[in-house]
Amino acid sequence: MPVHLRSYCHDDHHHPRDVLVVVDVQYDFLPGGNLAVAGGDEIVPLINTLAKKFTNVVLTRDWHPANHISFASNHPGKAPFQTIELPYGTQVLWPDHCVWMSHGAQISADLDIPRAQLIIRKGCNPQIDSYSGFREADRETADGPGRLSQQSATPAGFT
Ligand SMILES: [Zn+2]
Repeated sequence: MPVHLRSYCHDDHHHPRDVLVVVDVQYDFLPGGNLAVAGGDEIVPLINTLAKKFTNVVLTRDWHPANHISFASNHPGKAPFQTIELPYGTQVLWPDHCVWMSHGAQISADLDIPRAQLIIRKGCNPQIDSYSGFREADRETADGPGRLSQQSATPAGFT
């Protein structure tokens, strides 16, 4: 999703246990991709610089089955960016993006993060969209890093 590519740093003095979360730097969200974020490629060098300041770096990766509920193509008569109502609330429909094993789902090769320790795949459940990387859109189902942060007592997250 477009909001995924925000990345900032409010403090230059990171605790060794701080975790930088690099969200969805995948070809479908970069210029030329199915759900491109304008200028998304311009922050890649920034991410690379920032990542070198962190001991712990986690990547997230949007990773959808082709029958994912957030794809307009799975709702007859609907177009991308229209909305539907689902049990967990309003869902924006997207163009197909980040489909398992597709080129668009690949993490950009321009990303240079030697210390990335973990890649979290999200949006794997065909019935629930996932925006945060921490919680699915129903706000109930813990997504990958949500489960992680419950277990590892991370003092700060930077996304
Ligand atoms: Zn998605």
